[in-house]
Amino acid sequence: MAELESGQGIRVVTPSDHTFTLDEEALSKLLLREDVKDRSVVVVSVAGAFRKGKSFLLDFFLRYLHHKYHVKDSGDWLGGEDAPLQGFSWRGGSERDTTGLLLWSQPFLTTLDNGEKVAILLMDTQGTFDSESTVKDNATVFALSTMLSSVQIYNLSQNIEEDDLQHLQLFTDYGRLAQQSASGKPFQRLQLLVRDWSFPYEYPYGADGGASLLAKRLEIHEGQHVELQSIRRHIAACFEELACFLMPHPGLNVATNPNFDGKVSDISPEFQTSLRQLVPMLLAPENLVLKRIAEQKLKAKDLFLYFKAYMTIFNG
Ligand code: GDP
Ligand code: MG
Repeated sequence: MAELESGQGIRVVTPSDHTFTLDEEALSKLLLREDVKDRSVVVVSVAGAFRKGKSFLLDFFLRYLHHKYHVKDSGDWLGGEDAPLQGFSWRGGSERDTTGLLLWSQPFLTTLDNGEKVAILLMDTQGTFDSESTVKDNATVFALSTMLSSVQIYNLSQNIEEDDLQHLQLFTDYGRLAQQSASGKPFQRLQLLVRDWSFPYEYPYGADGGASLLAKRLEIHEGQHVELQSIRRHIAACFEELACFLMPHPGLNVATNPNFDGKVSDISPEFQTSLRQLVPMLLAPENLVLKRIAEQKLKAKDLFLYFKAYMTIFNG
């Protein structure tokens, strides 16, 4: 785990007073690395409000990526019952409640079956939605992460509420404004992830239950307020692929113990089962989504230029 122990989330975009600051040096160290810059990129972003288990989830992504693409071990990626989730925690001290956009310091490199050399990047996007002004400020950060990722995971607590759909519309509105090009759908895959789902008898845990719930929430029917209809059309028009996954509660050890170290045996068996489905669904080689803009596959060095270009647009 030595390599992972030295990894960390690198803050590349910081919002302040309606503008963004891009840490170009940090970003270039990551994307313009000799062994990275000419690879196609897969950018998996996790977005959502604070304290809803995003970092906890990212730790499992890292565990899988490390297992699959670094040590190339065919054994169990989730690890032994007593192994703590150590060394590569995305949770970190004072950074914890700062909004912005972070990238994991180590891209995971692999070659796909068709010979394509890729770099997998993980992005953490945090925001608060506790007042109208924070919603607006953060919408641009989320828009940026939606534009720069190939898979946007929208992490939600307990259910898909009308508010969540409204926020999503706001993010994609900003994104569309900046993206000018009118042809095709602007964004790739949106993966809604509902945490602590507690109605498995209505919609079962996992991808199928999620698909049914999402279809229900995005339903357009007569008599529905026009604004609600338009939000739904807009979301469907923005993404090439929409999916939803229902996660069970991870158990009280995870939810309430501040000293919880991620020991697998302390996580509810349902949550473990769901992790074993969700994580490979997003990160197994055959499921990776390469980042494209206007039909073109992006190399890491192109992504670097897009970061700069989008920042200029949002700050303009
Ligand atoms: P983030 O701010 O969204 O990155 O949230 P964290 O990953 O730091 O988690 C915040 C707290 O929620 C921690 O105490 C976690 O152990 C706990 N947690 C993680 N995943 C879940 C979950 O699925 N459900 C619940 N109820 N708590 C969780
Ligand atoms: Mg976090």
